[in-house]
Amino acid sequence: MKIKACSRCGSRKLTLMEMERESYPHSELMNNIVAVKYLCGDCALVDEAVVFNSEEEWRRFLETRNQSRI
Ligand SMILES: [Zn+2]
Repeated sequence: MKIKACSRCGSRKLTLMEMERESYPHSELMNNIVAVKYLCGDCALVDEAVVFNSEEEWRRFLETRNQSRI
């Protein structure tokens, strides 16, 4: 099970935002490249989500975040 989390606070309360496709309206090359962004329900950051392969990986990410804040 893949887990998507906020890159800033690690929250999993993410809401899918609109694709940024309209940023490149005149480029056919960019048509297939879509940046998917999420709104974080905890810190309101809008960014690409960090994807983890397991809950354990996600927990490790949270731990390293907490340590680097000290
Ligand atoms: Zn967040």
